[in-house]
Amino acid sequence: MTNKSNYEYLLSDLTKLKGVGTKTTTLLKKKKINNIFDLLWKLPKSYTDRSHSVKIQNLKIGENQTITIIPQKYSFPRIRNLPNKVTCSDETGEIDCIFFNSYEGYVRKILPLGKEITVSGKIGFFRKKYQLTNPKYISEDSLLIKQKHNTYSLTEGISEKIYNKIINQIITNLPLLHEWHSKNILNKFGNVKWNEAIIELHKPENIGKYKKNFYQRLAFDEIFSTFLVNSEIRKKIKKIKKEGKSIDYTKQNNIIKNLKFSLTNDQKKTLEEINLDLSSTNKMFRLLQGDVGSGKTIVSLLAAYNTVNSGFQVAVMAPTEILARQHYNFTRKIFSNQMNIELISGKSEYKTKKEILKKLAKNEINIIFGTHAIFQKKVSFKNLGLIIIDEQHKFGVNQRKLLSDKGGKNCDVLLMTATPIPRTLTMTLYGDMDLSIIKEKPKSRKPIKTYSKLESKIEDVIKFIKKEIKLGNQIFWVCPLIEESKKLDHSSAVKKFEYLKKIFPNQVSLLHGKTDLEDKEIILDKFLKKEFQILVSTTIIEVGIDFPNANVIIIENANKFGLSQLHQLRGRVGRGDKDSTCILMFKSNLSENAKKRINILKESNDGFYISEEDMKIRGFGDILGFKQSGIKNFKLADPVQNSDLFLLAEKEIKRIELNNEDIKKFKPLIKLYDRADIINDIA
Ligand code: ADP
Ligand code: MG
Repeated sequence: MTNKSNYEYLLSDLTKLKGVGTKTTTLLKKKKINNIFDLLWKLPKSYTDRSHSVKIQNLKIGENQTITIIPQKYSFPRIRNLPNKVTCSDETGEIDCIFFNSYEGYVRKILPLGKEITVSGKIGFFRKKYQLTNPKYISEDSLLIKQKHNTYSLTEGISEKIYNKIINQIITNLPLLHEWHSKNILNKFGNVKWNEAIIELHKPENIGKYKKNFYQRLAFDEIFSTFLVNSEIRKKIKKIKKEGKSIDYTKQNNIIKNLKFSLTNDQKKTLEEINLDLSSTNKMFRLLQGDVGSGKTIVSLLAAYNTVNSGFQVAVMAPTEILARQHYNFTRKIFSNQMNIELISGKSEYKTKKEILKKLAKNEINIIFGTHAIFQKKVSFKNLGLIIIDEQHKFGVNQRKLLSDKGGKNCDVLLMTATPIPRTLTMTLYGDMDLSIIKEKPKSRKPIKTYSKLESKIEDVIKFIKKEIKLGNQIFWVCPLIEESKKLDHSSAVKKFEYLKKIFPNQVSLLHGKTDLEDKEIILDKFLKKEFQILVSTTIIEVGIDFPNANVIIIENANKFGLSQLHQLRGRVGRGDKDSTCILMFKSNLSENAKKRINILKESNDGFYISEEDMKIRGFGDILGFKQSGIKNFKLADPVQNSDLFLLAEKEIKRIELNNEDIKKFKPLIKLYDRADIINDIA
């Protein structure tokens, strides 16, 4: 049987279970249940208590009851559609067990005449007699029936009975795992061991007991293992030795002096953190986090500048070509002719591309901008010293690690995200990186006034826009996805464009997912040069691009977005020093709950705060679209309900890091909970 201290049992194939064949395995695999451990998280939804039995005379019709009876007489009609029947009795009365679509042999076997049998099921009444139709719980062994039977949300083809059987089997065979937590941590959960906790978790009477020790401990295990893996990745990357860069502060400060603005304190602070990493002999793996419009770009470009001045090349990767081009243009402006800066774009001609690739390989290009295309196989650098990745909050841990490997030994990595996340999620999502945070926005920024408007009141909005245009201002008009269909998305924007064009002739342009790249750039360029005033678009303007003169944004169908997304969109305006406005349009009156959400947005311009509130309302996973991003989902833990556990886990990880504690004892935990490939190099 099982080796009782071996966690490997839990990772073994489902066919290792008795009574589980390839059919059940295949069904479970469809539900992403691949091994025994996965089954542990298949929890009962409710249960039926079949533990008490009654006598026939006391049966209650319509209820689930358990009785012990003796089969007396069979009736096997040879007519189609008539059920088989077994008349049974106890000393107080009679009951008929009815079987539709059954074989005579089966009925004889499970209800042999004269034997005492325990059956359980919903009691019916027909022609003045109790009856039990197709009873599923039948056994000579009354103990097998007289139990609490769990109900599960069923996988097609697997009955409740089978679930009960296999899960019972697993629970009985749980290996006794060595405790991995410190005494102090364990103490917080009433010293409940992992095994005990699992057993409690599956007791039907414990359904929904989220605050109990067993539940908290298991949730903690999950959070802790995620953090631990992240922490190990970070340690591992930081151990990589590289050639330190020497920062030329005189040159750097010259650039800063010539900017049109002065850096905020947070910009200075984060730049210094990055500079320290660049000059150290350990590889940098850092995330620059800051709200929309907080001015991350300039910080990263200064880091790029310092890197180039130290003799290295820099690659800057943006999620869209438009953003890549914008960064490229900005960089050319501020570094004027001091270095070779290039942009690789999808539309660059083959010849140009080839030329760029050649130059990159010879270190004749200092900074290259582009989308993920710059990390294709055929692109090679002579001396890459820094990768900057903008707006990639949807990159998972694995993707990030790959990038860091790809850049080569001397290559530092700086990621940027304008997606503030709730405090509890920092370690979950970004725990593998060092963190620099820009909290403060440039002083010249004014809060964006945010209003909600019914679509039927569009005339008011038009009036408002007319006024703004007179003042020389520009407007974003966002038409989001209506349904999950790109076509509809596109057509709603086209319709709005046609509508607005009539009111504002020659002042409106349209941008959507199908606009080809060249046109896109021409349009955006014209918008930047103020050649037209209203840009109608789908959500493609969401990420990163910067139009300081636009100060009004209209967002249609605003209820389709989460708060954080709305905040991001809204962040497209309010970048200059003018007053700016965001108008959220709704199809119908807002529900109380929706009002609450929108009020958060109206009251606050702080992305971190908004993300916290958004998560409280919408739950983790849904916010920011992390669901599609391959970021792991927790089985029990919930960043809202268990925020205390997330903070506790973070504290414990810091303690372990500080004491340089050997993590060998956590190996079973990591192996069980986190089977990413990364683990193979760690544990
Ligand atoms: P994000 O952090 O969202 O990427 P950007 O880097 O695009 O923000 O900066 C937004 C705008 O603010 C840009 O036009 C940028 O030039 C400007 N900016 C950056 N830093 C400052 C500052 N300290 N003072 C004033 N404007 C700034
Ligand atoms: Mg940005």
